[in-house]
Amino acid sequence: MASINSVTRQLGALEISSKPNTQAAPGRPTHQKKPSQNTGNVSKLLTKFAAPHPFPAASHNKTGSVSSVHTGKQNVRPPSPVKTVPSAPRQPTIDIGHYDGGFEKENEKRGEKVYGAAAEELALDSSVAHERPTREWHLTDFDIGRPLGKGKFGHVYMVRTKTEPHYIVALKCLYKSEIVQSRVEKQIRREIEIQQNLRHPNVLRLYGYFHDEKRIFLMLEFAGKGELYKQLMKHHRFTERRSSRYIDQMADALSYLHSKHVIHRDIKPENLLLGINGELKIGDFGWSVHAPGNRRTTLCGTLDYLPPEMVEGREHSEKVDLWALGVLTYEFIVGTPPFEELSGHNATYKRIAKVDLRIPEGVSPEARDLITKLLQYDPEKRLPLSEVRRHPWILKYRPKESTTAPPQSS
Ligand code: AMP
Repeated sequence: MASINSVTRQLGALEISSKPNTQAAPGRPTHQKKPSQNTGNVSKLLTKFAAPHPFPAASHNKTGSVSSVHTGKQNVRPPSPVKTVPSAPRQPTIDIGHYDGGFEKENEKRGEKVYGAAAEELALDSSVAHERPTREWHLTDFDIGRPLGKGKFGHVYMVRTKTEPHYIVALKCLYKSEIVQSRVEKQIRREIEIQQNLRHPNVLRLYGYFHDEKRIFLMLEFAGKGELYKQLMKHHRFTERRSSRYIDQMADALSYLHSKHVIHRDIKPENLLLGINGELKIGDFGWSVHAPGNRRTTLCGTLDYLPPEMVEGREHSEKVDLWALGVLTYEFIVGTPPFEELSGHNATYKRIAKVDLRIPEGVSPEARDLITKLLQYDPEKRLPLSEVRRHPWILKYRPKESTTAPPQSS
């Protein structure tokens, strides 16, 4: 099998087929690519190593072209490949929605060029990454669709690659000067490095990234059903069945992260997204640490989800995520976090430190048992993830045919 380095070399040597880019929206810089030498190989390599398509195969017409999509005010037909690649996966025509020109409008008003060490720190390009390099990307490689949301550092849009096999991703824009102003260059770099190396169905994939003078763009897995937090706000709380399904997926994802020595440290509904089939996706790695054995004592995260050892400024380990899983279980079922005190942070802090847990009547005995076993003051006494996945409250609602069954106990 080809090594990732040889694939990168091949990808670097080959160019994706596209006619001279006369279709770029007005105001957008045109990015011309050389004519293709070998479209088939590139498609195959991209299919294998870059960004697996999250959607099932569906029909194309016989010529291999797809119907037009909206980008800006024009209807743009993505360039057809020079020849049809029989082995390339067939993709459905998915409506990516109407582009409002937001990237260009925002870029005129927002952000500045950064210089010096900060510029070097933020010169992020997955085509030159040491681990898992992908091809070189540029904004003009995408047809841009509807806005998905707005984050602290820029907008997120639904986009589709112009070249076959037309991957759909969420393109997240981050303004470099704002990252520098908030002094989070290192944190952003770390978030990207961590997320790029993770592969789990309940962890949002980062397929690649690229940058220009003012911005960094992240090519993220498209989470079709959006933010879990919005669902929680809409329904106020979830049924125990739904909560149990989410907690099962969370426990599986956290087991995977911990096996890679990644502690998430900022589990809360706001950082969770939902995939096209309603599956949970951990989506924000801003506070993650890669912890090869050492324990850290920095205070971070939202107070409601912090464990006693963190609010007390003691050293902590991956067991902080077990505590947060207990808080999440409670919040899903009850609708508010367990130690919330509207009178202020100090009061919340005291309740966390005392583990002042009051579970309302109406919560099932199984759910109560799981929450109590996770919300233990002593991190070592918290129920391990392997046992969370075998807990009666989880097994009760897990579908028989579920592919996320926990490993057998050893
Ligand atoms: P963020 O900057 O990560 O806070 O993203 C801002 C908003 O964009 C989120 O609240 C989501 O509504 C949306 N969003 C971010 N990433 C994705 C994604 N991968 N798929 C779908 N929507 C997303």
